[in-house]
Amino acid sequence: MNINKIPFLDLKAINLRLKSELMEAINKVVDSGWYINGNHVTTFENEFSTYCGSKYCVGVANGLDALTLTLRAWKVMGKLEDGDEVIVPANTYIASILAITENNLTPIFIEPSELTLNLDIEKIEGLISPRTKAILPVHLYGRLVEMPLLLDIAKKHHLLVLEDSAQAHGAILNHQRAGSWGDASGFSFYPGKNLGALGDGGAITTDDLELFSTLKALRNYGSEERYRNIILGVNSRLDEIQASMLSVKLKYLDSDTQRRQEIATSYLAGIKNKNILLPLTPINGQHVWHLFVVRTKYRDELQKYLLGRGVETLIHYPIPPHKQLAYTKYSNLELNLTDKIHAEVLSIPIGPTMSDEQVAYVIEACNDFKN
Ligand SMILES: *Cc1c(COP(=O)(O)O)cnc(C)c1O
Repeated sequence: MNINKIPFLDLKAINLRLKSELMEAINKVVDSGWYINGNHVTTFENEFSTYCGSKYCVGVANGLDALTLTLRAWKVMGKLEDGDEVIVPANTYIASILAITENNLTPIFIEPSELTLNLDIEKIEGLISPRTKAILPVHLYGRLVEMPLLLDIAKKHHLLVLEDSAQAHGAILNHQRAGSWGDASGFSFYPGKNLGALGDGGAITTDDLELFSTLKALRNYGSEERYRNIILGVNSRLDEIQASMLSVKLKYLDSDTQRRQEIATSYLAGIKNKNILLPLTPINGQHVWHLFVVRTKYRDELQKYLLGRGVETLIHYPIPPHKQLAYTKYSNLELNLTDKIHAEVLSIPIGPTMSDEQVAYVIEACNDFKN
């Protein structure tokens, strides 16, 4: 087969498909003379809240800010205070944890379910203390957490729910999308995400008008009206050019997701290697396959082998947050399942521009691997 290199994700190809539309959108912003807090941001916010099935959307500078500012807004609104506990998956990306500690809140790490690698719902109640005030479920790899069960527990214990939807744009469970389940949901539009800008971007979706207004002030120096600062805010704005890029790319999100799903279906049917454990597909919804994560005891060997065959892979993530040098205070926590998963996961290429030949080649290479 005439394929010498399969990149993990071909961002250049993804954006070049849409080059004329993207350039036209950039030209409009350049010609408008208005670059921050303008119509393109408002238009995208409306489009994205409609897409997710939420009432409101607030654009911010990135996904980390989407999470951090939501928790901060709840502090401003008197719903959280310093030292409150937030339950969060132990095997997530560092951003989910940083959003909590940045607000002087305490992360309570929860282990994943071995089946889905999402947080194990059954373990939530055992972790709830009188200080527990929120839960931050992460729809890891593009698969929704079992939100109906999680929301029942949250309701029973009066916990706020902030979804981390940074990997799950468009993911569905019981006909309902990521971003419409929790009290709020944070999204990232980092270029490599399923809905990616051509720079940084993020957003929060919510049905709560008070949270919406607080976030709009927070992102803009705590100001609702120019030069009048009602709360201590930050500068975290989605800009007009990125918002216009996102409006173009949102139109293609569903067809891109469909292509990811086709590739995942081919992988699930084609990869047959007793050393490689494949991910499961949910039966009651739609996984958007931000990442296709396999597990193997021979992870480093498989990664090296695939690279030798020209297939680029990544590890999400090599070190769990509680083992990071920045978080030595959590290094003694016993999170055995999390540690094990971090040693076994490998993400193989998946993206909307991969060809059938490339997919077949990855399958063949995985099947040829012997430990
Ligand atoms: C990417 C990501 C974020 C952070 O998004 P940025 O835009 O890079 O700040 C947060 N949580 C998860 C799970 C992510 O994958």
